[in-house]
Amino acid sequence: MVPQLTDAYERKFYYLRLSITDVCNFRCTYCLPGGYTPTARPKSFLSPDESRRVSRAFAELGTEKVRLTGGEPSLRRDFTEIIAAVRENPAIRTLAVTTNGYRMARDAASWRDAGLTAINVSIDSLDARQFHLITGQDKLRQVMDGIDAAFSAGFKKVKVNTVLMRDVNHQQLGAFLHWIKPRPIQLRFIELMETGQGGTLFHQCHLSGEVIRLQLERLGWRRQPRGRSDGPAQVFSHADYQGEVGLIMPYEKDFCASCNRLRVSAVGNLHLCLFGEQGIPLRDLLADDDQLAALKDRIVRSLLSKKQSHFLHQGNSGITQNLSFIGG
Ligand code: SAM
Ligand code: SF4
Repeated sequence: MVPQLTDAYERKFYYLRLSITDVCNFRCTYCLPGGYTPTARPKSFLSPDESRRVSRAFAELGTEKVRLTGGEPSLRRDFTEIIAAVRENPAIRTLAVTTNGYRMARDAASWRDAGLTAINVSIDSLDARQFHLITGQDKLRQVMDGIDAAFSAGFKKVKVNTVLMRDVNHQQLGAFLHWIKPRPIQLRFIELMETGQGGTLFHQCHLSGEVIRLQLERLGWRRQPRGRSDGPAQVFSHADYQGEVGLIMPYEKDFCASCNRLRVSAVGNLHLCLFGEQGIPLRDLLADDDQLAALKDRIVRSLLSKKQSHFLHQGNSGITQNLSFIGG
């Protein structure tokens, strides 16, 4: 039997979020408002082989699902190679990407051929002008074409991430629902989280997902049960809609009690929480397949220091300046 990664609070970890780059070509107001700033010395991000080794170690510790994220993962020229490398391990049943959708129209079919099984794409507004204002890129049409391309390539469902922002998109539930009525899209509202760089926007625009939940319930949407490797979304469905709505509410009481995921940054540090400390280096154990046992041992030991909860309620986002270095 596969040993299951478990922490001191009896939480089990089935899900790895693997960042493969910090680089991004968008400038989302809540993430990289000034755009990506390259560091003086270009960093080297995990190679396909390193990605394969780290996900294999996690798979041998019970991980069933890996999400590739960033920065913008599809900017990696070897992105399909990374997909194929992670999928080499049959225990990884779900391999997903979170993307800004920039390359989807062009590449969704090749991602699927390489072994990708699920796509999350970020769209904060269905209005092209507003999309441009939020992301710094006039690319809503291109991203929408990407969603069509994903369906044509054989993805049965696409998830869309929408960061909920007061007076930006919080009054647009009607338009979002109209859009997903005939489409198998799970639209997930994510509460805006406070980061080191995003304090001002947070105080202006943070809004509880409760406002959406109440509207959904009034409109007859019903909450679905959650699977063990599912993300943190509360998912709602409605008989008249092909699409679903998800709510991700990190500020809700007990959000951390159902935490089932760990994160590895693009430079190979293990992060026990999205909002935590520097990270535990794993890269020295990713150079060779023979290091697998030592790598697993370090992961298991590190997990013992995972804290019970984040400290976002106290306005403490740890070292997390923005989410592009660790993938949200
Ligand atoms: N570039 C890809 C994208 O945008 O989908 C992947 C990386 S991005 C950091 C991952 C997710 O984090 C996106 O859905 C994004 O909307 C979300 N995100 C980034 N900053 C956030 C914040 N301050 N609060 C809530 N969600 C945030
Ligand atoms: Fe880039 Fe994604 Fe951050 Fe937007 S949310 S700036 S697309 S990494």
